[in-house]
Amino acid sequence: MVKEAKAPLPDKYKQFGEWYDLVSEKAELADVRYGVKGFVVFRPNLMTIVRAIYETLERDLIASGHRAMLFPLLIPFRNLLVEKEHVKGFENQVFTVDKAGGEELEERLFIRPTSETAIYPMYALWIRSHRDLPFKAFQSCAVYRHETKATRPLFRGREFLWIESHDVFATREEAEAQLREDLEITRKTFEAMALPFLPIEREPFDRFPGAERSVAYDVALPDRQVLQSATTHLLGKRFTSPFGVSFLSASGEKVVPESTCFGPGVSRIAALVISVHGDEYGLVLPFRAASVQVVVIPIRNEPALVEYSRSLAARLTGAGYRVRVDDGSETAGEKFYRWEMLGTPVRIEIGPREAEGRVLTVTRRDTRKRESVPEDGLLARLPAIETEMLAELSRKAWGWLNSNVHEASTREALLAVARGTGGFIKFTFCGGEGCAAEIKAATGGYEVRGKRADVEEAHAASCTWCGAPGTELAYLAKAY
Ligand SMILES: [Zn+2]
Repeated sequence: MVKEAKAPLPDKYKQFGEWYDLVSEKAELADVRYGVKGFVVFRPNLMTIVRAIYETLERDLIASGHRAMLFPLLIPFRNLLVEKEHVKGFENQVFTVDKAGGEELEERLFIRPTSETAIYPMYALWIRSHRDLPFKAFQSCAVYRHETKATRPLFRGREFLWIESHDVFATREEAEAQLREDLEITRKTFEAMALPFLPIEREPFDRFPGAERSVAYDVALPDRQVLQSATTHLLGKRFTSPFGVSFLSASGEKVVPESTCFGPGVSRIAALVISVHGDEYGLVLPFRAASVQVVVIPIRNEPALVEYSRSLAARLTGAGYRVRVDDGSETAGEKFYRWEMLGTPVRIEIGPREAEGRVLTVTRRDTRKRESVPEDGLLARLPAIETEMLAELSRKAWGWLNSNVHEASTREALLAVARGTGGFIKFTFCGGEGCAAEIKAATGGYEVRGKRADVEEAHAASCTWCGAPGTELAYLAKAY
């Protein structure tokens, strides 16, 4: 047996910032040494997580009738000025390009902070008839916003990876239905990564610039602050009309269509996979997000053990797993720690007893529990471990989220939760922007996130904070 040493990372529930920075470094995820503020390098271990998220999202978008497209990074500045609220929301955040090849550009360009202003002028050319609708398309890309709120890598960078889908419909009903479909796509991706979320409809004063309805997907992190990981917006005719998108109906009338957009933040979902599942030994990854899914470790560097490890690894690779044999010169204990830090879902130790008896010692990363599996039963056991692990990660993650949703029916109770445990606080809200600002000031930063978008929740007659007539049961949280 290998002796247990001290856990290499702090308790993430107590020192989340330190935990996150250390795991990011030791598990070789985001590298902050690039040298441009707000920009990080995505190392291969992080890109495996990112690609797994992209794959599930793209698969479900395509299955729901979307097609992939790709727009240029640069957008003419005049396009930004077309929709008034949109320009107000983004003009202070955009990176602009004035020069090229040492010469002033005739027309100033900006780098996309989101792509409505690039896409709608082209949609105006492509969409002509009711037969062109619905038009559902997405792009997988990076967007750029000059964020001033500095936070940790992947949470709020100046460059982040996402998918943006931009859909156009003949009717409002179809556009509304798209918001529900976007929620289902988000749900499937989050389930694939064993992540929980609360779909919350944002308040009118807190919507995406130019949106008529915004639904966001919020998750509480180990420090009980909330990360918005994806959003979907009903844009109505707010972009189609000013950008001149129209179609001829079956009866020959010119009609301005409705549109929606959906932006799952892939960088942020990756940050959730890291933060929600990790522990004091490092990352804990679901199989699909792991660069190496099974590591085979000969406990000593003896030819018989190494050879047996390699033959076992070859069989697993043949069965479709991403496998590595660690026959390096470190001690077995050092190797165990390294692969635990990387979040490798399954470790198989090979000692003389295992090699001779053909009964393997298999350790699952999430529970760190060992079990004995006969060699000829391994290929049947691994998919079961994958399923069990995903279910257990999901159960734990939902348990954490649910245990951090509190309800307050008085102002005092609300303040007590805000000063005490933190997390989400449900309360009856009047809908007032001034009331929300007052709560934020009194609680040291708790923001009204909005009401649940997926279920109806009953509310009291008057606002828990100000006593004005209550309009909804809203969620409060501190956010990244
Ligand atoms: Zn109020």
